[in-house]
Amino acid sequence: MHELTCANEFGTFFGVSQETFDRVWKRLTGNSNDSILYISMEIGADPDVFNPVRDFLTRIEPDTPDLRERLDHYTKGPGKIPNYSGGLGVLAGDTLKSFADLHIPVSAVSLLYREGYFSQMVDNKIGQIDHATRWRPEETPTLFQLREPGRPETPLTVRVPFYNGGTRAMEVNAHVWMKMEVSRELDFFVPEFLLDYDTPGTPDWIREASRRLYSAKSTLIKANQRRMLGSGILPLMERLGLTARTLHLNEQHGVSVILHLLLNEITDMLGVEQLEEMSDQDIDVAADRVSRRIVYTIHTPVKAGHDRFDRALYAQISRKACRLILDRLAHDQDAPHEYNFTAFAMRVNRAVNSVSRLHRDVTRRQFPAFADKISAVTNGVHPATWVSANRSRVFDECGQLRNWRNDPGAFARADLAENASFRQQLQQAWQQDNKLLVNHINAMLLRHRTQMAETWIEPPNYLSNIRDGRLEPGVFTLGFARRFSTYKRADLIFDDLAALADILLRLNRPVNFIFAGKAHPQDEPGKSVLKLILDNQEELYRRSRGLARLVFLPDYDMALAKMMVSGCHAWLNSPKRPLEASGTSGMKAAMNGVPNVSVMDGWWVEGYHNGLTGWKFGYEGPIEEADMSEAPDTLMYEQDSLSFYRIFPKILSTFYDRPDEYLNIAVNNLRLNVPIFNTHRMAAEYVERYNLDLEPETAETAASLRRLYNSDAEKE
Ligand SMILES: *Cc1c(COP(=O)(O)O)cnc(C)c1O
Repeated sequence: MHELTCANEFGTFFGVSQETFDRVWKRLTGNSNDSILYISMEIGADPDVFNPVRDFLTRIEPDTPDLRERLDHYTKGPGKIPNYSGGLGVLAGDTLKSFADLHIPVSAVSLLYREGYFSQMVDNKIGQIDHATRWRPEETPTLFQLREPGRPETPLTVRVPFYNGGTRAMEVNAHVWMKMEVSRELDFFVPEFLLDYDTPGTPDWIREASRRLYSAKSTLIKANQRRMLGSGILPLMERLGLTARTLHLNEQHGVSVILHLLLNEITDMLGVEQLEEMSDQDIDVAADRVSRRIVYTIHTPVKAGHDRFDRALYAQISRKACRLILDRLAHDQDAPHEYNFTAFAMRVNRAVNSVSRLHRDVTRRQFPAFADKISAVTNGVHPATWVSANRSRVFDECGQLRNWRNDPGAFARADLAENASFRQQLQQAWQQDNKLLVNHINAMLLRHRTQMAETWIEPPNYLSNIRDGRLEPGVFTLGFARRFSTYKRADLIFDDLAALADILLRLNRPVNFIFAGKAHPQDEPGKSVLKLILDNQEELYRRSRGLARLVFLPDYDMALAKMMVSGCHAWLNSPKRPLEASGTSGMKAAMNGVPNVSVMDGWWVEGYHNGLTGWKFGYEGPIEEADMSEAPDTLMYEQDSLSFYRIFPKILSTFYDRPDEYLNIAVNNLRLNVPIFNTHRMAAEYVERYNLDLEPETAETAASLRRLYNSDAEKE
C-alpha cells in the first residue's frame, strides 16, 4: 500500500509505486512517440517548498523503519537543488508540477551545476558578495543518479558529441541525475534529467562550464554551456529510450538540439559523405521537417536573455556543416558577424509563444517577420507550491473550495465576497503569515548584530545597528523580490527619499519595505542597484523619523519568496514598461490574496481588472511608441516614481483606515486572478499546442481548464 520504492534497468528510485512508475515510463518510451520533452537551462523546484512525497509520508505516519527514515531525510536533510536563477527556472518547475498533476506525459532535461547559480552574502559597505553554493547531489534525497543497466555500481554514461573545428566529434561523458516531479496524489510523475558533466576524464573547458548556471566568465564558457544542454539531448533520449516527438524549448538556450536534428535529417537526405555539400534548399527541406517537432517559448524582450555569438567564435566550436546551417537559419540582418539563436529558434518551430498578451504584441514588434505565428500563453504559478500553509488551511476548510489545488476555477465559482467567516479566517491567516515574516526578519537582524564579531561581514541592514532595530507585525509591509536587473528598477520608489518620507510623515503611518534578490555576478549595474537599496536605509529611516524601515534579505530563493509573498500586505513591481514579459512573483502574491502595486507591464495588464485587485502606476503608453532601451538615462525614474508617490497615500489609507475595503481587494484576487494565473490552466493551453493523444479523462480536464481563460484572445 505505502510502497513507494520503484525500479527499472536504470536504478532504484523512491516517490511513486512501481505500477505508476512503469505506466509513466512506458508512455515516455513507447512507440507512439506520444510525449513531450521539455528543455530548460534552469528548473526551480526546491523540495523544501513543495514536496508531495514528504506530505504524503507525514499524513500516513510511516509504519516501517524505511519509510520513517525517508521522512526523516526529507524533513531534516539538505533538500534544495540550486538549478535556477529566477523566474524562468521557477516557472519551469511550476510547469512540470502541473504537467504531473494533470497527467500529461512529459520528461524534462536540464544541467546539473555543482556550484549552483551562486549564494549571496551582503555586506553593507561592499554590497553583494557571491560564492559557490555548497551542496551535494549525492546527499539530496530527491535526486537519483541513473545507473548502467545490469551494473548498479556504475553511473549511467551518456556520450555527448562536441565539434571543435573538424568533422570528427570529441565525445564527452555525462552522468545523469533524475528528480521526479510527483503529482499530489502520487499517481503520476514528470522525470527531470539533469546532465552532469563533472565526470572522470572530462576536459577542463567542459568542467569549467558545468560549474555555475549562466557562468559568464567568457563568451566561450557561455557558448559551451549552451552546447552542453542542447547537444546532450539526443544522446540522452537514445540512451534512455525516450521517444518524445515534440521538443519544447523553454527559452532558446537549448537550441543546438535543433542543429543536431537538422544534421541528422540532412545526413539521411544526402549521406554522410555529402553532408558538407548541402545546399540552402536541402537545409530548408530539413528545417521544414524538424520544425514540426519544435515548440518554442520566448520569455523576454531584454537583450541579455537572447544568445548571440560571434561567427568567428563559432568557427572554433562547430563543424562546417553546422555553420552552413547557422548561416542559413541563425543569421541576423542587424549583426552580420553574429549568429542569433533567438532568430534560429524563431525560424524552426511549429508554434512559438510569448508569456503574456502584452509580451505577444511586443514580440511581434521585435520580430515582424514571424508576427503571424507568435501567440500568447500567459504564465502562471503552481497553486500547491505558492499558497502558504496558513492560507491553505483556510481554503481547505471552505467547502466551496474543496479540491482547490487541482481546480483553481473553484475560486471563481465560490461566493467568497459575502462569506463573513471566510473573510475573517483569511484575514487571520494573513496576520499569521505577516507575523512569520516579521519574526524571521527580526531573528535575522539580531543574528547579524550578534555575529558581527565572528564574521568579517558588515551587517547588510541599518536596523541591525540601532537599538530599536526591529519590525513590528501589523505594520503595512510592502515587498519586492526578484533578480536585480536594471530594467526591473528595484530602487525606483527611492528615487526621491524626501517625497517618500513625507508621505509617511503626513499620514503618520509606519511602513516596512522588504527587499530581496540577486544580481548576476557579472552584472555591475545590477549590483549597484542592490547597493543603492542598502545605502538608502539610514536616510529613509531618519527622514521619516523611524516610520519607514527598509530591510534587505540576503540569498533570495524559493522558500524566502513564499514567505515574502504571503507575509507582505502588498507586492511591488516597478519595471520599465514593456520590458517585463510576464513576471510571476506577483501571481504568487495574488494566489495568497495579496494585492499588487505594479507598473502596467507583463501579466498585470491582464490581472489588474480596473483596480479591483490592486493598484497601477507609471508610464502606460502604447507599446508601438515605447522605448525598449535599457540604457540608464532611458529608464524613466523620475516620471514613474512620481506616479508611485501619487498613489501610495491611497494605498496606505485604505490599509489603515478601511481594512474591510482592503480585504475586498484580497478576495478579488482570489476570485479573479487565481483561476487565470495558475500553471494548470497554462499547462492546459500548452497541451493544446502539443497535439497529444490523451486519455479522455485527461483531455477533458485540460479542456475545462482552458475554459477558465484564453491567453491568446486579443481582448478580454
Ligand atoms: C517567482 C520567483 C522569481 C520571479 O520573480 P519576478 O517578479 O517574476 O521576476 C524569481 N526568483 C524566485 C526565487 C522566485 O520564486
